[in-house]
Amino acid sequence: MRFAARCISPWAALTFDDGPNPSWTPRILDALDRVGARATFFVIAPLALEHRQLVSDTLDAGHEVEFHCTEHVRHTRRSRREVEADTHEGLQSLQSLGIEARLWRPPWGICAPWTQEVAQESGLRLASWSADTKDWRGDTVPEMLGRVEPLLGQGSVVLMHDGLGPRARRTGCEETVALVEPLVARLRELGCEPTPLGVAVGEQRVGA
Ligand SMILES: [Zn+2]
Repeated sequence: MRFAARCISPWAALTFDDGPNPSWTPRILDALDRVGARATFFVIAPLALEHRQLVSDTLDAGHEVEFHCTEHVRHTRRSRREVEADTHEGLQSLQSLGIEARLWRPPWGICAPWTQEVAQESGLRLASWSADTKDWRGDTVPEMLGRVEPLLGQGSVVLMHDGLGPRARRTGCEETVALVEPLVARLRELGCEPTPLGVAVGEQRVGA
């Protein structure tokens, strides 16, 4: 999916799910810092509570921290009431860290027929992606770049992971770390500046 642009400059969004992770999030942050790019992190709320310094570091570096889930379970395998409770709990956790989430990427991006309504009730905007690196499979940088390059352009949203979620087929996120620099270079060749998704689509928080 592609979002309509709300900002003047062409943009693309780098997004990272399933963190924060004490081994990999700092390395992703370093990689982003080296190329001067800002991104959006869709966090698992209990991990954000457990690694609150990582969340602070992420925000301090100018990135966005948004909501992924409390429990990483497909909405289609839960009741609406369960997902409402999961979302409420997760948003409260993020609020305790000073974060008013505006964007929501449900686990695996899978929505139930009522997910959109839960999002609206919770003041969240659903955030999918348009270019999937499939980094969770443990693919190499050339494989991932080759997969997403045809999909990159104005308004593209790239899916990556700074943590090892359920069913990840790799033991570390080295290749995602290594992907950041060439991916950002390719986006800039295309004239698109990596921009936090909320900023790009006009959902940024006041004071963020
Ligand atoms: Zn996930």
